[in-house]
Amino acid sequence: MNSKSIRRLRAADKTFDKQLEQLLAWEAVANKEVEDTVAEILQQVRSRGDAAVIEYTNRFDRREIAQAEEFALGPEVLVEALGRIGAEERDALEVAAQRVREYHEHQRQESWRYTEADGTVLGQQITPMERVGIYVPGGKASYPSSVLMNAIPAKVAGVDSVMMVVPAPEGELNDLVLAAAAIAGVDRLYTIGGAQAVAALAYGTETIPAVDKIVGPGNIFVATAKRAVFGHVAIDMIAGPSEILVICDGVTEPDWIAMDLLSQAEHDEQAQSILLCPDEEFIDAVEVSLQRLLAELPRAHIAAKSLADRAALIQVDSLEQALEISNRIAPEHLEVSVAEPELLLPKIRNAGAIFLGRYTAEALGDYCAGPNHVLPTSGTARFSSPLGVYDFQKRSSIIYCSPEGADKLGRVAMTLARGEGLEAHARSAAFRVKR
Ligand code: NAD
Repeated sequence: MNSKSIRRLRAADKTFDKQLEQLLAWEAVANKEVEDTVAEILQQVRSRGDAAVIEYTNRFDRREIAQAEEFALGPEVLVEALGRIGAEERDALEVAAQRVREYHEHQRQESWRYTEADGTVLGQQITPMERVGIYVPGGKASYPSSVLMNAIPAKVAGVDSVMMVVPAPEGELNDLVLAAAAIAGVDRLYTIGGAQAVAALAYGTETIPAVDKIVGPGNIFVATAKRAVFGHVAIDMIAGPSEILVICDGVTEPDWIAMDLLSQAEHDEQAQSILLCPDEEFIDAVEVSLQRLLAELPRAHIAAKSLADRAALIQVDSLEQALEISNRIAPEHLEVSVAEPELLLPKIRNAGAIFLGRYTAEALGDYCAGPNHVLPTSGTARFSSPLGVYDFQKRSSIIYCSPEGADKLGRVAMTLARGEGLEAHARSAAFRVKR
């Protein structure tokens, strides 16, 4: 990478708005071939259950399973994995899990009700979902942090059965992933992946009970399958590439900011890292740091492509202007690396997670700070929120009418129902109205 390869923009330029639009442009690849493959897998699993799951698992994950029992693991397998991992890793997982649990306990919604003067009671009852499926990717890498971030909020919500699927290419499973599942309290684990796992969770098979919601990231086959089963079950979201936006006053160590940008860039080639700063010399220093630090990274080839294709170092007139641009971008992760971040906080409207101050590296949020790392991407922080306990809780409205309440409300309902031409509605209300 050379200094020309990172985009430099100035917010004062007349063409800045156009340049920003180009920077943010990202299209989810719609791939007809993948859609057809996934549709066939979903249909086969739906009609043939375990037999189809076994066939696809053997084909795509290069396994030789003969019966469903071989992909359904009991809790003892998870506990055994806990014993095999190193003490340091086990401690780190337990600390992270404890912090994630504590944070999410603050999110639990409670039922409420109020009583009107005539005795009518209105309220909202909170109920957890019964069964939830968690997809944990396992094709090319393993993500124990994803296990914690998806399973713990479901457990905190009170979901009866948290079922996890994870592919085991060639029968290999990652001990850290299994240990994370044990620590998070996963109830059942199936070593299957891809569209066949999503189908099994959505429709159920002889071995796998159908779930109410499927959450968790995955490759294009998983994402396409989740989109296709949405409506039959709930899903969390279809995540785009990861993003970080850093607002810096130009006083933080340039190496720190550069490494924060690189920590997103190393995720994948489509990941996006953006710096907004009023100080041109500081931006120059970050650019120099980026080049030096990039060369030392094991995933330099991925990070270099992400920086070249999708990153930008943007000079702004002021921190106020940085906030305005950041709100337009609505980033997944927003670092506010300035002297008094609390002063800027009330002006932040759109962001998945906000990291305040020079010491708060976004990477801490990825693993162990406590808040969820499953966040809205691609500008969707304008209207959506991090994955949380509330995603596994449902709200039912409660209505109880006293005789007086039925009389009063019945008269209103009769008028409105007749206005809509719905006579049975009107008469149903009228039966309870005092004569
Ligand atoms: P994966 O578990 O998502 O996919 C593996 C499965 O894909 C296999 O089991 C197989 O069934 C299916 N598959 C592979 N080739 C196929 C084919 N030709 N036809 C039909 N099915 C096929 O694991 P992965 O591939 O390693 O992908 C993980 C993905 O998850 C990556 O894209 C990664 O970026 C993403 N991820 C995202 C986050 C996030 O928070 N956004 C976190 C972790 C991982």
